[in-house]
This record gives sequence, C-alpha cells and structure tokens, in this order.
Amino acid sequence: MPDSATAPTLQSLFRDYVAYLREEGITSVPASSRPAPKPKARPKKSPAAPVPAAPEPAAPVASAPPPQPAPVQPPPPAPMPTPAAEQPTAYATELPTTNAPGDTLETIAAEIRACRACPLCQRRLNPVPGEGNSDHPDIMFIGEGPGADEDAQGRPFVGRSGQLLDKMIAAIGYQRERVFIGNIVKCRPPGNRTPTPSEMAGCIPYLLRQIDLIHPRLIVCLGSTAMIGLLGNIGPISRVRGTWHDFHGIPVLPTFHPAYLLRDPSRKRYAWADLKTVMARLSSPT
Ligand code: URA
Repeated sequence: MPDSATAPTLQSLFRDYVAYLREEGITSVPASSRPAPKPKARPKKSPAAPVPAAPEPAAPVASAPPPQPAPVQPPPPAPMPTPAAEQPTAYATELPTTNAPGDTLETIAAEIRACRACPLCQRRLNPVPGEGNSDHPDIMFIGEGPGADEDAQGRPFVGRSGQLLDKMIAAIGYQRERVFIGNIVKCRPPGNRTPTPSEMAGCIPYLLRQIDLIHPRLIVCLGSTAMIGLLGNIGPISRVRGTWHDFHGIPVLPTFHPAYLLRDPSRKRYAWADLKTVMARLSSPT
C-alpha cells in the first residue's frame, strides 16, 4: 500500500490516468467499445436435498396391475465446463524452492550470470535477473523475457514496452522502484521469439526462488508466457486476464503484455481495468 502521507488521491490517480491515456494518443473511448459488464456471479449450487422415500402403498394382491416396463430415464446432463477462473491452479513447480539458507537475490543473480542451462546463454549479451523493491513489495510484475534493450543493459523492461509499463505503474500510484520487475526467462530469446517450454522450464526455478525471497503481496503476469510459466495454461489471456489466481498463497492476476498493448492500443482499456482490480485488492484490508 502506498504510505498514507504519499498515497495518491482518487483525483490524482484519475488525473495521472487521463494524462497517461493522452500520451498514448487516446482522447476518447467510444461507448460501444467499453468493456463488457462482468458476468454476474453464479449462485453456488446447494447440494440437492435428499428426497424422502414415498411410503409404499399396500397393493391389494388380487387386483395387482400387470408389471409395467421401467420408465426410460433421460441421460444425465453433461457436466458444465468450469470457467478458467474457478479451476484449481496448476503450479509450474512447488514452493518452497531450492533456496539455501544464505541465498539472496544477489547470489541468485550471480548464478543466473553463470548459467549455461539452455542455449539462450550462447547469444545473450547480459542476463536480466530482475530489479526493484525486494522487501515484500506490494506488486511483482513478471514479463516474458528480455528484448534487445534489456539484453544490452541487463535490466528488465527498459525498451518501449518498459516505457509503457512505467506509465502503467505510475497510473496506479507507484514508481518503478517500489515494485519488483522480473521475467520468466532471464536471457534474450533470439529475435524476441517466445521462449520454448524447455527454456522456460530451465529458467523458472530462478524465478520461484526470487518469489520465495521477495514474497510480494501480489503478482501481475504480463502476457500469456508469464501466465503459463506461473499458473499453467489456464486459458487464453484474453479470457483469463483480470481474474485472480492463487500461487502458493500469493494472489496472481494475468493481464496483457505491454508489447501487445503497443501493437493494439485498443486493448489498453482492458489493461487499465485490470490495474484497477489490482488497486482495489491492494486497498482492501485482506
Ligand atoms: N518484455 C519482457 O517480457 N520483458 C522485458 O524485460 C522486456 C520486454
């Protein structure tokens, strides 16, 4: 939570957000493009009450009707598919991790710099372990993997996507230094391609160890690679975004990746809705 002395007022948040939209070239939101209203929560089914057995009528022996064929029962309805948000979370791996008692973010970063676990190490200029507030920050953002700018500087989200992420962070009243920013893979995939499942599997243990030490209040997954890396393939990001999931007691919300928002600015309003969901969670006492 922002300190109460420095906490942004609703007015200042709104002003920041309007400024952020203007900078992004959005000057109006057409009524027809507003996000669809949230579906109403379905009332939980209560278990069916047991039907009391009807007392058997005493059948007169002499006039018993001839035996009837058993009535044909309709087949039971197929089970409804469970919406993604209600499915149990699939974990990339189990926490607690392999962190040893003396491990710190610095020792993990040193291991990442020496890592030769997958072919991504061959072409990297600099691995990108992640950076920011590691002292139980309110938010940890997790992206996919470094791009060219990040590879050149060894820092996460410093290119065009990073500039947009900074604006998104500012729009909810934080600065970059007050959150932690990490990635699923720490080395740049050539040509910014999506990391392969085996590259992700080789690198995710570092991320889990970081999460274990940082223990953020909540995690925002930026894009489907981050979502899949942490939660498993729980559905298309366009459907699952904005919903809460549990990762070993840490609430996780997937949203669109800033690079996707740069390619399709019409999606920014959904990302903003997701950020408001994050703000609401951070301001709730639980
Ligand atoms: N995109 C990512 O997913 N991570 C970065 O660090 C930069 C761009």
